[in-house]
Amino acid sequence: MNLSETQIGALREILARPQREIVIVSHTNPDGDAVGSSLAWREMLVRTGHRVTCIVPNKYPYFLDWMNGIGEVVVFKQDAEGRAVQAVERADLIFCLDFNAISRLEILSDTIAANTTAQRVLIDHHLAPGPGFDLAFSYPDASSTCYVVYRLIEALWGAEAFTPTIAEALYVGMMTDTGNFSFSHLTPALYRAVATLAETGIDIPQIHNNVYNAYTEGRARLFGYAINRKMELIQQGTVAYMSLLESEMRRFKFQQGDSEGFVNYALTIKKVKMSAMFLAHRKFIRVSLRSRGEVDVNLFARKYFDGGGHRNAAGGKSYVSMEETIAHYIRSVEEFAAEGHLG
Ligand code: 5GP
Ligand code: MN
Repeated sequence: MNLSETQIGALREILARPQREIVIVSHTNPDGDAVGSSLAWREMLVRTGHRVTCIVPNKYPYFLDWMNGIGEVVVFKQDAEGRAVQAVERADLIFCLDFNAISRLEILSDTIAANTTAQRVLIDHHLAPGPGFDLAFSYPDASSTCYVVYRLIEALWGAEAFTPTIAEALYVGMMTDTGNFSFSHLTPALYRAVATLAETGIDIPQIHNNVYNAYTEGRARLFGYAINRKMELIQQGTVAYMSLLESEMRRFKFQQGDSEGFVNYALTIKKVKMSAMFLAHRKFIRVSLRSRGEVDVNLFARKYFDGGGHRNAAGGKSYVSMEETIAHYIRSVEEFAAEGHLG
């Protein structure tokens, strides 16, 4: 990714106005990258004299509870005092982190859309950014939004600006969005960024432990159940899918974030090129898609599940029953394969 001097200049000018009222928002079902980039960017903006509120549409997973400053993140769905609405009404600048269109905020979309006067700045790494941003730092070739935030901080304030708190938050997103540095876009520049973060003295094994070894017993057992009983293979064993009903989730005391990583697991099977996870919610089924190499699940998600994302990690929604969703998936995979998209 190459930052444009013009865009950096424009952002520098926006932030030169003292004491701006800033809101940082991130996507529904916030993950390590959404939360990490929000917390790091907030810390940096607070340190440079602004007032900042971070808002997410719904709860972040409990394995991020340990993060510095997480208690200050307003969860819109649980916000009885109306802190989110007040902050958005006050805001004259809104940063949109780790998503590409206001609609991805789902229940929070209308609240953000209602403030028509604030400047909007996008900082993201998803394909195809939507309209409506005054300034867009959109880098689909960046492995995480945290890496984009890293580059912005470096460009605006220099490498000395990284405090351990900022470094820890950025490392979380870089680690989680790359599957602990195992997916695509692992550039030399990313590792140089990690080296700079490590120089602040952050405890990398501890961060890894906090995020990846913090699950409940229920989650461990649900994982075993899902792989053993619910994983199905089609297309001569090259395409996988898995589904979880609400009753199954209740049985294992499901908490937000517990299914993290399930969809990836099918790709540990050598022959599998594409994997899907269908997770039942009250009003719809959330679809998660993952793929290997050239297989483009962003295209698949857009075409068949009204969604999007990245080439190897995408998602969408389904508004029909689990059985119908699975039938639609199987038919769609057949069509996708017939068009030559599965190699
Ligand atoms: P996950 O499976 O981890 O929820 O999502 C994987 C990727 O797909 C993420 O980058 C996420 O932003 C994107 N994604 C998930 N659900 C949707 C959706 O409903 N619409 C769009 N456009 N992208 C989605
Ligand atoms: Mn991300």
